[in-house]
Amino acid sequence: MSTETLPSYLEGAWRRGAGAGTPVADAVTGATVTHVSSEGLDLAAAVAYARGTGLAALGELTFHQRAEALKAAALALRERRQELYDLSARAGATRSDAQVDVDGGIGTALVYVSLARNGLPDHTLIAEDDPVPLGKGGTFAGRHVLTTPRGVSLQINAFNFPVWGMLEKLAPALLAGLPTIVKPATPTAYIAAHAVRVIADALPPGAVQLVSGSIPGLFDLLGGQDHIGFTGSAATAARLRADPAMTRRSARFNAEADSLNCSVLGPDAVPGQLEFDLFADALVTEMTVKAGQKCTAIRRAFVPAVLLDAVSEAVEARLARVVVGAPGAAGVTMGALAGLAQREDVRAAVARLASAGAIVYGDPHKVEVVGADGERGAFLSPLLLRVDDAARPEPHEVEAFGPVSTLMPYHGVADLLDLVARGEGSLAGSVVSRDGDFVREVVLGAAAHHGRILVLDRDSAGESTGHGTPMPQLVHGGPGRAGGGEEEGGLRAVHAHLRRTAVQGGPAVLDAITAG
Ligand code: NAP
Repeated sequence: MSTETLPSYLEGAWRRGAGAGTPVADAVTGATVTHVSSEGLDLAAAVAYARGTGLAALGELTFHQRAEALKAAALALRERRQELYDLSARAGATRSDAQVDVDGGIGTALVYVSLARNGLPDHTLIAEDDPVPLGKGGTFAGRHVLTTPRGVSLQINAFNFPVWGMLEKLAPALLAGLPTIVKPATPTAYIAAHAVRVIADALPPGAVQLVSGSIPGLFDLLGGQDHIGFTGSAATAARLRADPAMTRRSARFNAEADSLNCSVLGPDAVPGQLEFDLFADALVTEMTVKAGQKCTAIRRAFVPAVLLDAVSEAVEARLARVVVGAPGAAGVTMGALAGLAQREDVRAAVARLASAGAIVYGDPHKVEVVGADGERGAFLSPLLLRVDDAARPEPHEVEAFGPVSTLMPYHGVADLLDLVARGEGSLAGSVVSRDGDFVREVVLGAAAHHGRILVLDRDSAGESTGHGTPMPQLVHGGPGRAGGGEEEGGLRAVHAHLRRTAVQGGPAVLDAITAG
């Protein structure tokens, strides 16, 4: 890849921003990969192109025909996924990390293809319900229809999933007939841009555009017909949510923000029980996949107080087998963080967490690295913390977006539910136990704080998709701190991009409208 400025894909052509741009470094070697700049690009023209060309092209297609286009895009990506793996390695991702992003994204798009074929009409609108009679004589009724807004879908993504993050938002928007403008995060924009290069020709003109770099003034052009899907930190979400595009013009805004996800070990899962090992394995997986840079990773691990030492030992033993190093180097099981700035953020967060307890595994400033220079590359040891006083605020407030998790004790279900709630809303939680009463009490007590809860035991472990993996069929999102949004969830995401209108009239008129 050349180190010149990364182009943006606007109005059907690749265009470079002006100026030096923001340099993006290789996470492993520190070498410059590219520069990112949107300076001087005509974003207003991009929005107009989406609303004109994109909306018209998609509007000519039925849900099923849009699904065909989405399938073609997903298959084009599958064909060239090696190129995306290679680029992902520059962002510190091992092959299996890259597969989570790339294959996960392709798989998500293909699930949407199937959902659309089987669950949506071969039409451009959805009649949501049967006519509801509104008069005694049967001459007047009402019906809800879902139609495509006259707007665009702007997606703003986090750096950790440049491909999956784009596709899980693009798929429902495309099916809904909304043209998309992608704004990837700067550190991994070159991966997202490559994915757009691969899919652009498979999609109708204007269906996808991409801005490499910042988007000054873009929100000023958005309003009630537009959808903004944001993934990133709670701080950025809060800033964007306050924009007049939302507060005055009622653009739809969906946020997926950071989250202090928990995993709970049941009192029945003592050493020797399979659930004890499942808990320790899952924790280490969540700490090390993508070097812990996953919004759904387990940050808070709650265990019965009497099991704290045993769990700590079991997790430490597993972490000792993790090999940190360059993606692709022999034996490496965990890659680098996305960049040196991210490593500094994680170190600062770990220092705050450690003030509440102790680091029981790993050193934030020292790690043995295979196949790369540990200082030039953004490598970090996995770090396990232990906070014996679980009432301390830090583990429930500080997100270390890296290979970091904190063990805490709980004393009974009421105490546990109180601690879980202190995360103030999470994307995903796990309960690892075979005790049905305990599981039920915890799930019902914690559900309101979670977008998704996984129950893990020996019977389901073989097929379980794991704590950290959002499934396109299921809701991804979480209340409160996690952003208050909802993505995926099967066709719910398509419906969320459409506009619901109650149409009233005579039954024959309603029939004629919904028949198309
Ligand atoms: P971030 O700094 O909040 O950035 C997220 C995105 O917002 C980036 O594309 C960023 O662009 C953009 N952005 C920042 N300021 C903006 C503004 N004023 N106007 C428009 N766009 C703006 O987050 P990050 O560091 O990339 O990602 C890490 C965080 O995301 C973590 O806290 C993690 O928990 C969270 N996350 C959540 C999920 C989820 O599904 N809930 C998934 C992944 C990550 P630039 O990069 O160009 O600044």
